[in-house]
Amino acid sequence: MQIFFRTVPIHLWFLTIWSVSKIIQYIFNQQQTVWEMIWQRSIDYYEQDKYKLFEYGILVTSTATSVIVLSIYSFFDFTQKPAFIRKYKINPNTNEPPDSTKFIKVISYSVINVILAVIPTTLLAYYGLKWRGIPSLYPLPNILTVLITCFINDHIFDVSAYTTHRIMHHRLLYKHIHKIHHEYKSTIAVAAFHSHPVEHLLVNLLPLVPGIVIMKCHIATAWIYLIGHMLSSFITHSGYHLPFLNSPEYHDFHHMKFECNYSVLGLMDWIFGTDKLFNNTIYHKRDKILFSLKSAHELYPKEDGKVVKTQ
Ligand SMILES: [Zn+2]
Ligand SMILES: [Zn+2]
Repeated sequence: MQIFFRTVPIHLWFLTIWSVSKIIQYIFNQQQTVWEMIWQRSIDYYEQDKYKLFEYGILVTSTATSVIVLSIYSFFDFTQKPAFIRKYKINPNTNEPPDSTKFIKVISYSVINVILAVIPTTLLAYYGLKWRGIPSLYPLPNILTVLITCFINDHIFDVSAYTTHRIMHHRLLYKHIHKIHHEYKSTIAVAAFHSHPVEHLLVNLLPLVPGIVIMKCHIATAWIYLIGHMLSSFITHSGYHLPFLNSPEYHDFHHMKFECNYSVLGLMDWIFGTDKLFNNTIYHKRDKILFSLKSAHELYPKEDGKVVKTQ
């Protein structure tokens, strides 16, 4: 089931936030939800210019998401606090704390990638969407439409990203391009976009465009979809398998073993049989959404019966 729903926990959090905004609207007897107010202010700020709303809106929301989420995970990594968080480490005693020099190098690569790859991709997505006909700014799509669009977009992304990622593992491309992303065998959140600009463009970004264009996304839906996608990427590379979030075990195993688990959702790996190595491991058992505060190590200890130590 994970192969269809791996990114769904993030979307369920969106549903929760939307529900809370509805409750606030009801309690305070407001005309608009918090979400509708933010959208209205954005439209006013960008003077109803769809180009600015799409381009600048994506840059602002994705930068804000990156700064907030990466700051939280980096705080966990460098301080190893709060103490209870350490039991959720997939590979205990790794990157505790991370190497500072390497960390700065990773941040530098990410900034270069933003300049070289993000801007052309958002321009391509905008003009693709314009060709299809950009939906009018109002009304905002309902929450069900947003969630279904995100779900379908994730699967469209997975088909193209699996293909380009697998091509990157060809020995000629691997040593010149993809090797950079695999410098971390046990990953941290900032390493999500630690890659050669060519890889960032072909594997991480361009596969996002077809879904936005095919589904003729509302600009607000595109914002939400991309925020969700970034959150999933950071969680997947964080090295922490936290409760009520996506399981990062699947992609973490790719960094450990290389020649398997190329897909984000897992569906393409299942179709092409590239998940066989993973399926016989303890990591496969642990590859679940945690619905309690118990860690995956506690729920699925190693075969010898001992819980893997987190110290
Ligand atoms: Zn990765
Ligand atoms: Zn790879």
